[in-house]
Amino acid sequence: MTASIIDGTAIAERIRQEVAEEVAALKAKYGLVPGLATVLVGENPASQAYVRSKGRACEEVGIFSTKPTLPGDATQSEVEGLVRELNDDPNIDGILVQLPLPGHLDEEAILGAISLHKDVDGFHPVNIGRLVMKGREPLFVPCTPAGCIVLIDEAGTEIAGADAVVVGRSNIVGIPVAGLLRNRDATVTVCHSRTRDLPEKCRRADILVAAIGRPQMIRGDWIKPGATVIDVGINRVEDPTAPRGYRLVGDVAFDEAVEVAGAITPVPGGVGPMTIAMLLKNTLTAFHYRLRRLGLE
Ligand code: NDP
Repeated sequence: MTASIIDGTAIAERIRQEVAEEVAALKAKYGLVPGLATVLVGENPASQAYVRSKGRACEEVGIFSTKPTLPGDATQSEVEGLVRELNDDPNIDGILVQLPLPGHLDEEAILGAISLHKDVDGFHPVNIGRLVMKGREPLFVPCTPAGCIVLIDEAGTEIAGADAVVVGRSNIVGIPVAGLLRNRDATVTVCHSRTRDLPEKCRRADILVAAIGRPQMIRGDWIKPGATVIDVGINRVEDPTAPRGYRLVGDVAFDEAVEVAGAITPVPGGVGPMTIAMLLKNTLTAFHYRLRRLGLE
């Protein structure tokens, strides 16, 4: 069997287009546009690059964006103070604090300071709590996990009743993805570094989500024939033939898995592009909360 490739680039592009059209329509109607603030603390080059690409993506779809930056030695109260200013800023609908934060800062307290209605990254403890509790609705769902679910749906895979295995239990990916799958009535197994016989667990999966951060760890013979495989991993591996001396691979050995799976995301071009697309969508959702507060909707 050769799996169908789930084209995250095309799906993300379609979502961005839909967001752009809605932003334009709302601007024409109300003369207002959504606003996103991406807070960066310190000078981590990867974080700087993520913040820049989020800013560019906003510009492309007509969302106003600002990138308040604090030095790496900023205090807890300075960061929380900035978040509170943004909470009160009527032109800002979404606040995203770029993670990871420098080690001396209390991440949970900073994320908890974000207004629930502006928490477009979906990491506020109340939103995460609602996501993992039965019958509760978060105001926002974290972007990468939300993107994974869109990709599974786009592959035409039935989630309800499926056996889903999530490898990885981070707060950013594994835990919320597992919660979302369970909320959609999958039977979910969450695996991690202490899991015994991981290949055997993976072989049970109708839906396998890999969020580990280990290049090509999941082999073709760990995959159930016909399964839907979502590879969240982004890993650099040396490649002297590549222009930059490295290339990106996922957590799944793609060349092997593609022969066994029913549908699979490539790396790059799978989950990666979905994260920013879902962020734009969440910012638009936050803008609707503002329009409701203003009594316009
Ligand atoms: P973390 O390092 O926070 O979590 C990794 C998880 O994998 C942990 O739960 C860990 O277990 C588990 N793990 C590590 N080694 C093994 C092993 N040998 N066997 C089984 N489980 C193992 O990573 P993230 O969740 O933040 O990211 C995972 C990957 O996804 C990375 O490659 C990252 O770059 C990528 N990513 C991609 C995004 C995107 O596409 N936009 C967004 C975010 C992340 P334990 O809990 O026991 O330590």
